[in-house]
Amino acid sequence: MATIVPQPSLSPSPDAGRQPPADLANLLDLSDDTLSIRGGDGAMQFWNGGSTRLYGWAAEDMATPGSYARMHTRFDTAEEDVLAELVRTGRWEGHVTRTTRDGREVLVSVRWAASRTEDGTIDRIVETGRDVTWDIILEEDFRRSEYRYRNMFQAMAVSFWELDFSAVKQMVAEWSHPNESDLAAFFASAPNAIRNSMAKTRIVDVNDKTLRMFGARTREDLGETMERFWPRESEPVFAASGIAAMAGRPTFEAETKMLTLDGREIDVMFTWSFPPQEMGHGTVLVGIVDITGRLRVQQELQRVQGELAHAARVATLGELAASIAHEVNQPLAAIVNFGEAAKRWMFRPEPDMAEANTAIERMIADSRRASDIIGRIRGMATKSAPKPTLFHPCEAVREAVQLCRHDMQSRGVALSIAEIAGLPRVRADRIQIQQVAVNLIVNAIQAMADLPEERRALVIRTRLTPDNMVLIEVQDSGPGIDPAVADRLFTAFASTKESGMGMGLSISRSIVEAHGGKISGRANHDGPGATFAFSLPMAEGEKLDVPCPYAA
Ligand code: ADP
Repeated sequence: MATIVPQPSLSPSPDAGRQPPADLANLLDLSDDTLSIRGGDGAMQFWNGGSTRLYGWAAEDMATPGSYARMHTRFDTAEEDVLAELVRTGRWEGHVTRTTRDGREVLVSVRWAASRTEDGTIDRIVETGRDVTWDIILEEDFRRSEYRYRNMFQAMAVSFWELDFSAVKQMVAEWSHPNESDLAAFFASAPNAIRNSMAKTRIVDVNDKTLRMFGARTREDLGETMERFWPRESEPVFAASGIAAMAGRPTFEAETKMLTLDGREIDVMFTWSFPPQEMGHGTVLVGIVDITGRLRVQQELQRVQGELAHAARVATLGELAASIAHEVNQPLAAIVNFGEAAKRWMFRPEPDMAEANTAIERMIADSRRASDIIGRIRGMATKSAPKPTLFHPCEAVREAVQLCRHDMQSRGVALSIAEIAGLPRVRADRIQIQQVAVNLIVNAIQAMADLPEERRALVIRTRLTPDNMVLIEVQDSGPGIDPAVADRLFTAFASTKESGMGMGLSISRSIVEAHGGKISGRANHDGPGATFAFSLPMAEGEKLDVPCPYAA
């Protein structure tokens, strides 16, 4: 409760009128601001509840002359300047630091009004004050975090855009109370809706990286909205991001193309973040990373890998030349034989057309076989970009085996193929998968070259792993993996063979991994030899047990 303290040093007549009436004093007590009147002797004539709460002293404590000094008032500026201003204008306002009764330091924003005696000396000062200790700390914290954010915003190698989305929100809200599929339908049905939305997405702020990435000199060059940066082909991405925002998802990410001011098309990774509290105001933060260079390098890498794989295939065909020649020769020889037989049946004194027909059917079948093999070889020999098709894993295995069959037979390798009845099909480049299988089979045959013929055994298994990957395993009975290359089997130029290039497994790995699979090699657990295996993901939406077309 504030107390009006009688001041013996001041004459009662002028002071009496200036003291607040009791009910006003009560009211002033409730204020959280401090309010005080101090006399020229440093005694407080008025000291409200707010002052007591801030400084800790009661009105009675502060009523004695010199009490003011207890607070150890310090100024931001020189004290003489403060007094000079007070004398000159009768007013002063600023910040003071004071010490409270319990020893804390507080920063107080104060306003002073001085009253002067007739001779001009200040006889008392009315002060209102507000504790701003925390304001200043928070302000400083805020300033620092704002500075940090600004710095990050500017220094990042990412283009940042702060966008105002509220007009788009309003446009959609006018249209309906949308859920995700409604919005998708909306954007699909109104082709202009997407471009309209772009034109209504206002640019609030961007960082310097944005200017450089989009070929602008100043922020003004970018214009008011985002529309001009979106080529037609990227409209679906913009629509999808808007749908994500309005469906309340926190983020959205997509690769897309954008246009720069100088008309270049750049590949970008585009990320929107929609913090819920900001979405309320319709603001979103967008991050854009230019991935044009990365994509170009990736494409170049793919091209070089493709060429390497092709070169390796041609080299393998060379290694398999004898086997292939035999595979083609066999049906050709059979065709000649059946042709002659057909002639004999037809030109007998009593022609037997049924037998002649059977011979001709066999000729046709063998011609098909020969042409199949040639087609396969041509597939491996020609250079073409990888072309994913849907096929059964057992087909790739059978075709690979066919190319190596003569090699196996002539070396006395006993082959067994263990296939489970049904497997899902895979979507992959068939020639490349065949190439991997051929690589593993040729390696296995070569690994067993020094064994006595009767111990050369090759088992090829196809099965499904517990995580639904198709696994193709090639198991041999050779010497196992040489420790000299065991830890770098799949790196280029790792070879223990005299004339080996060491490229087969490394190329196989890049083929398999590009298809989302894995390749591995290990010593057999239950006997001599090694097993090399590669996996491929089953084609999307595929049934688990499609029978092998060869078995049919
Ligand atoms: P290259 O056949 O030209 O040596 P690869 O990359 O196909 O190149 O094979 C690399 C090395 O891996 C081979 O030199 C060999 O040491 C080892 N290797 C591959 N397959 C087998 C296998 N089935 N058994 C034992 N070692 C193998």
